Amino acid sequence: MNAPEPTTHPHNPAAALAAVTQEIAAACRDAGRDPGEVTLVAVSKTFGIDAIEPVIAAGQHVFGENRVQEAAVKWPPLLERYSSIQGTGPRTGGLKNAGPEDGGLKLHMIGALQSNKARDAVRLFDAIHTVDRASLCAALAREIDRQNRAPLLFAEINTGAEAQKAGILPEAADAFIAACRTDYGLTIAGLMCIPPVDDPPVPHFALTAKIARRNGLSLLSMGMSADFALAVRFGATHVRVGSAIFGQRG
Ligand SMILES: *Cc1c(COP(=O)(O)O)cnc(C)c1O
Repeated sequence: MNAPEPTTHPHNPAAALAAVTQEIAAACRDAGRDPGEVTLVAVSKTFGIDAIEPVIAAGQHVFGENRVQEAAVKWPPLLERYSSIQGTGPRTGGLKNAGPEDGGLKLHMIGALQSNKARDAVRLFDAIHTVDRASLCAALAREIDRQNRAPLLFAEINTGAEAQKAGILPEAADAFIAACRTDYGLTIAGLMCIPPVDDPPVPHFALTAKIARRNGLSLLSMGMSADFALAVRFGATHVRVGSAIFGQRG
């Protein structure tokens, strides 16, 4: 007897990326927002270069990783190989005074960051979504000054006040954002949240947006594969989407 033909279809990253992009555009239309306000961060954690290259080829230039060491292995060859799509000359996106979105490949740190990895993080990443404590601010400020690179910084808010989760508690957010500036000279550009897995995400998106608004912050990193369209309706400027683009992680 012959074995049955496999019925699973090969994952098509270009089609998946197009579907996500269209869903973001539709959510923007519904919310009366300009799709140009929303940056799709394609979360490539655990996926190798072979899986990432087709997504770059399909036109995606902003990627997210959650471990410094993994990013430090995977990304330098890709940044080198695709340097020609990086606007003018060297990678200018993280340099002081350069615009945050100049069309080149951009790498965003979305995972917990240890202070002893601040040097590599400032060197590798154009944005860090997980600023969550004073000791990390001190380490980042030192490296930003030393390397003359200024990644875009988001403070992570622990909107669900979950004991096991990183992030600043909502009631401590205003003081933390102010201290980043006054104590460390760091500009927090926006807020990031990861809603508790079992909660409806909307109250967490709304709370994060409210804290950003009262602190005059314009950027909101919220929304993942399951809820990015909803996050866009609640003002997300950065959605972090992994499995909906790359397929399930192994
Ligand atoms: C992995 C991860 C994502 C992407 O998750 P998906 O559900 O695969 O889209 C987003 N944000 C953070 C912080 C992550 O660690």
